[in-house]
Amino acid sequence: MIQELLKVDNLKMYFPVRGGVLRRLQGFVHAVDGISFKVPPGTTLGLVGESGCGKTTAGRAILQLYKPTAGKVVFQGRDLAGLNHHQMRHVRRDLQMIFQDPFESLNSRHTVGEILEEPFIVHGIDDRHSRKNKVMQLLEMVGLSRSVIARFPHEFSGGQRQRIGIARAIALEPKLVICDEPVSALDVSIQSQILNLLLELQQQMGLSYVFISHDLAVVKFISDAIAVMYLGKIVEQAPSGDLYRKPLHPYTRALIASIPIAQPGRRGIRAALQGEVPSPVNPPSGCRFNPRCVHAREICRQEVPKLVPRPQLSGPEHLVACHRTIELAR
Ligand code: ATP
Repeated sequence: MIQELLKVDNLKMYFPVRGGVLRRLQGFVHAVDGISFKVPPGTTLGLVGESGCGKTTAGRAILQLYKPTAGKVVFQGRDLAGLNHHQMRHVRRDLQMIFQDPFESLNSRHTVGEILEEPFIVHGIDDRHSRKNKVMQLLEMVGLSRSVIARFPHEFSGGQRQRIGIARAIALEPKLVICDEPVSALDVSIQSQILNLLLELQQQMGLSYVFISHDLAVVKFISDAIAVMYLGKIVEQAPSGDLYRKPLHPYTRALIASIPIAQPGRRGIRAALQGEVPSPVNPPSGCRFNPRCVHAREICRQEVPKLVPRPQLSGPEHLVACHRTIELAR
């Protein structure tokens, strides 16, 4: 019996950096640098961190849209790296993605009906009549009227377009959907409608999500467990409740402190987090967060901290990669 639907094991994704007239190899962007996590069926793992931390790259490497540099992606018990094109095509029915900007991912020359029918045609499923029925059902499931079937993507609002993106992603009844910043381009009022839709679909269909976002407030709303990424590495990972009750990594604390609250005088993200994410081409030695961490000591500049549980402080599933966790918790 497989406990997890998805198991990511020490996944690395480096991009070559070339320069000069001869385009010589000058180094690598360490976009994802050894991340591991599991996603049990019917649950959501939130992947959170500032822009440039490697979240999108991780999502694309899981889907094998990039060939990972190292590590394993095991989906439903199968190592995806070992699959040929035909086998991978089959797996894609169960493994889908929702993008930040559905406008870019929806073919603007196709009607909604054509866009939603396409996955069935590509996978040779059903005849024309049943496909049409399925498209109607999908529209209903994502809260769109059946009458929109002949309309084009540009005729919809951002929230409606995201509903079309979601309908297409769930068309083939996948097991896991990677949601890459699916609400960050939307107005706040629309964001909660889309998040609620994702939760409803999860309950109806038993879906699992990997939910990528830079916004901890959004991730908190939707996730069962959360992995906090910084410069290609996971610095803290825990069940959602534990992470908010007892954030252990200084980076997680800064992210939580930067969640905007409708309260005058509340500190904003700049006050909570100084400076920018350094370049992943030459990441800082030791703990990658050390140049921005007010608690950093010599050891933090020298040694890479391991992602480990701290049973004195929190539950066994709460992992943190910080040399000073125990001292800072006192
Ligand atoms: P954002 O929310 O801004 O997309 P992110 O956390 O999703 O941020 P990624 O988009 O995964 O981060 O990028 C991680 C790092 O990898 C960045 O420094 C980015 O410039 C780099 N990167 C991403 N894709 C490529 C690529 N195809 N070639 C080279 N570098 C890349």
